[in-house]
Amino acid sequence: MGAKPVFCDVEEDTGNLNPEILEEKITSRTKLVVPVHYAGHPCDMEKIKKIADKHGLFVIEDAAHALPSWYKGKKIGTIGGDITCFSFYATKTLSTGEGGMATTNNANYAKSMKINRLHGINKDVWNRYCCDRV
Ligand SMILES: *Cc1c(COP(=O)(O)O)cnc(C)c1O
Repeated sequence: MGAKPVFCDVEEDTGNLNPEILEEKITSRTKLVVPVHYAGHPCDMEKIKKIADKHGLFVIEDAAHALPSWYKGKKIGTIGGDITCFSFYATKTLSTGEGGMATTNNANYAKSMKINRLHGINKDVWNRYCCDRV
């Protein structure tokens, strides 16, 4: 996609993206922030979201280590990043062998994600073979 990852230093105590340094890394070419909730510790999402919103950036949370984790009483995956990605790989806290899950509150992203999970098919198997169903 031509994207260039720019790494941001982490907090010593959690290993999470350090929001105090994040803003220094943002340029006019920055499109999104990908905080990793490392080892189950939730990132400081309030600070990260505030910085992202100020610069018009998307936030895609890497929650591969964060099932289950909570931030200020809310489960990771429900706290307001644009998209949150979980991994169900064999080494994760919940494994299905492979695969993962993405969550969003954005209806347009959800629609696109549903189509992508079915390899571009926009109707699930129940609705695919009958013209009456939506
Ligand atoms: C495992 C892991 C991933 C990748 O998950 P996949 O399901 O293999 O795509 C991403 N980020 C972190 C922090 C991980 O531990």
